[in-house]
Formats: sequence, C-alpha cells, structure tokens
Amino acid sequence: MANANDHVLAARIASETGDLLVRLLDEHATSERPRGGIEYLGDRAAHEFIVAQLARHRPDDAVLSEEGYDDPARLDASRVWIVDPLDGSSDYGWSATWSVHVALVEDGRPTAGAVAVPGWETTWATDPQPRSIMSRVGPKPLVLVSRSRRNVDGRRLHRAMDVEIAALGSAGVKAMAVVRGEADAYVHGGYLYEWDSCAPVAVAQAAGLSACRIDGTELEFNKARPATSGLIICRPELRDGIVDAMASPD
Ligand SMILES: [Mg+2]
Repeated sequence: MANANDHVLAARIASETGDLLVRLLDEHATSERPRGGIEYLGDRAAHEFIVAQLARHRPDDAVLSEEGYDDPARLDASRVWIVDPLDGSSDYGWSATWSVHVALVEDGRPTAGAVAVPGWETTWATDPQPRSIMSRVGPKPLVLVSRSRRNVDGRRLHRAMDVEIAALGSAGVKAMAVVRGEADAYVHGGYLYEWDSCAPVAVAQAAGLSACRIDGTELEFNKARPATSGLIICRPELRDGIVDAMASPD
C-alpha cells in the first residue's frame, strides 16, 4: 500500500513541476515564444525535474513517463510512478488547460497521485482527499469530451442522453473540472495512454467519483502496452447511462 508520504510526495512534485512550468513561461515573453517550441522545452524540463525528484526520494521505484524511455523492468516492479510531466501541451502557454500528472501504481491500481492545474492555481491529491461535490452542475448533466473527439463522443452522448456537452483540452483538466464540481462527467471514447489517465483517475476515485473504461470495466495500469481503451470519470449515478450511450450504434 502507498504510505502517507507517497501522497504528500505526489502532491509536492506535481505542484513544484507546475511552478517550474509557469516560471518557464514567464521567462519567455509571448511574442518571443517559438510556436511549437515552448511545449517541448516544458516537456523536457518538467520530465527531468520529476525523474530527479523520484530518483532522490524513491530510488527503488520504477518510473513510466510520457517523455522518458520505457524501461520494461517496470513490468516486474511492485511500485511504479506513472507521470505526464505536461498534459495538454498544445495549450501550454496559450490557455489554462494544461496539467501535471504524478501517480503511484501498485498491483495495477493507482494508490496515490496528484494533478496540478497551475492555471487554476490548485493541486488535487489523493490525500488529503478532494472535497466530494455531488450536487448536479445544472438542470442537465454537463459532460466534458476531448476537442478531437467532440463530433464522435459528444454526438453519441448527446443523442443517447439528455446532457449538455462541452469540449476542452487536457485529460487532467477535464477530470479536475469534474472533481471540483464544474462538470458532471468526463468521457473519452478513444485510446488514452496511461500517463494521461492514471493520476486523474487516482484523484477522482479519492473524491468519490466513478472511474472505469468506456465499457464500464475496471481500469488497469502498468500494462506492457500502457494504453487504455477509453475512459469515464463521472458522478456514480451517471456511469451506467454513459456506458450504455457509448455502446450505442452510430
Ligand atoms: Mg505530456
């Protein structure tokens, strides 16, 4: 099991990585930023910081990072940190919808984690647990989808359920919008890498939300191919309806 310090460490690393990424933007005036460049600087700096922190504080643990070499030794490790140093990198420097994901996985399940959203000046972690917000956002459930899948996932959900749809970037930001009660669900019908979903799932579950694959089955992490077929993070009472809607024919 994760120990108390794992929760604290995840939160601290996510927060400090977020601060580092904000400083990097401050050092590069908007007019001087190379388009398609600042996010690469951010990816690299954030990855190196996270890997160095984990090497220092958890030297025996394995690491899977979006920006790192995938060492297959992680498959035999009992503790694996799955990190996305900068999620939503295409928004980095241009909007608030980017995040930092740090999660610890044991036996295929996230046991500690944190998501930092510097644009909202907040880091959510598994302990202390986020305050559960179970009141409905509006008269109809608000479901967040990815911009790239708005016409697929959004259309399917809207046709099958009485819901409102909105699209925005970053898996972590969409998941935290549900955690903080600004939306009722986040649904992604396509593949996601484990670094996209792992820390958001850890935090969402700690907040009392449901998290599952698109077909309602349990999520599993630290797989040989670190990807997941779809993701639902939602208020528990919406889960069955979303699973049914996403299984409906085109
Ligand atoms: Mg990334």
